[in-house]
Amino acid sequence: MVNGSPSGFFGSSRGLRQGDTLSPLLFLLVMEVLGQLLRRTEEVGLIRGFKAGSATVSGLSISHLLFTDDTIVFCDADRDQLLHLRMVLACFEAVTGLGVNMGKSELVPVGEVSSVDQLAEILYCRVGVLPMSYLGMPLGSSFKASSMWNPILEKIERLSIEKLQRKFLWGGLGDGFKYHLVGWNTVCRPIANGGLGIRRVVMTNRALLGKWLCRGVLMVVGFGKGIMLGRDLFSQHIELIPGQDKSASLASVLSRLDEGVQRVWNFSFIRDFNDWEMDEHGRFGSKSFYQALIGQSNIHFPWKAIWRVKAPRRVAFFVWTAAWGKILTCDNLMRRGYSLAGWCCMCRKEWEIGDHLLLHCVQASDLWSAVLRSFGVCWVFPNSIKDLLYGWFNSFGKHESEIWNLVPLCLLWIVWREHNHHIFDDMEHSPSKLVELFFGLLFDWARVGGLTPMNSLADFVASLCFTCIPSTGSL
Ligand SMILES: [Zn+2]
Repeated sequence: MVNGSPSGFFGSSRGLRQGDTLSPLLFLLVMEVLGQLLRRTEEVGLIRGFKAGSATVSGLSISHLLFTDDTIVFCDADRDQLLHLRMVLACFEAVTGLGVNMGKSELVPVGEVSSVDQLAEILYCRVGVLPMSYLGMPLGSSFKASSMWNPILEKIERLSIEKLQRKFLWGGLGDGFKYHLVGWNTVCRPIANGGLGIRRVVMTNRALLGKWLCRGVLMVVGFGKGIMLGRDLFSQHIELIPGQDKSASLASVLSRLDEGVQRVWNFSFIRDFNDWEMDEHGRFGSKSFYQALIGQSNIHFPWKAIWRVKAPRRVAFFVWTAAWGKILTCDNLMRRGYSLAGWCCMCRKEWEIGDHLLLHCVQASDLWSAVLRSFGVCWVFPNSIKDLLYGWFNSFGKHESEIWNLVPLCLLWIVWREHNHHIFDDMEHSPSKLVELFFGLLFDWARVGGLTPMNSLADFVASLCFTCIPSTGSL
């Protein structure tokens, strides 16, 4: 087909380079030809695939499996069938110009096969033995053997889910290098303890496993090693009644009730449950178990000032990083091996550390003063971002503070953007321009969050002053 209408043959003048994104598609088209040839050959009875499914039902017959560049053809250990297969491959080669590399092909006998060598000679290929590797999986070995699954489990472990989570958190799944600014242990803490509440995979698994155990549901936790680990955990929590034998089979602790097919578990728990193991209904909860596993943390963190505020998530994330003192200011860059002068890029007088840059540096403190003035508020400035957030949140009562609570996030964000503007664009804004940028952004957030009825920036700024609000009015 050329432009929608059939036409004659045409010679190819150019090939595809290796790695071209079109080549897998072309390969699929071409392999469809081989698939059809093999299917027809089987249909007319020249080769015979193996029957899948139970013998009593006329099950599916499989003559070949194709996956990317691996191809498996099934047929009987029969001289004639192999001759037919050789002819199919020869036809395929003639039609498509794709040669089958017999040097890379193997004939693998399944079960007892006499005269394997003679059969292999028909196809000019080597004789292989089971188990063989297909798609990275051992084919033909016992699927119950742990030796078979161990390498696969290791492979999966190397593709650690946590590694992916970490990479995603600090800059998507792209290839570019990104710093992981805050330690993963901190990230995995509950939000109220200054983390992001990301659950540790291993602990979550244990907690969930604990839940299944306590529900008395038969668990299948994985393969080989996994089951033994599960059994160990299982034995820690329960007492097996038949002979008190920890190695008793699961079937032996199940007993059938007199009537019906329902089975019940026949064990008792070694100890009473702790409070944390129960949910509010007195049942075992995986969440509380998880919290107990990761350990109660008594770290205090101004999390409400960051996450209970109607600011964009990206900004909240930045302020969270800044509150931990982990944004990429000179001090943190030097800790990562950069040699820098270390001076604050805004004032060039002090060391550039997060608290200085965002609170005390001349541009930042000018901006803080201007903003406090417009709210009509005097404020004794704290030393650290954490302390500032603690003091700031809801300091004018729950109902009056919604816009007020946005201020630290908005201001820190404006100063950080200005800092980056200095470094990467070698430009700076005037102090009055920064004030304007600040109120513009605050107005946007307040409107998006439905926190202000004002339609113009000027009205909005005028409405912010606490001392100007009549005592009966509200923001
Ligand atoms: Zn400075």
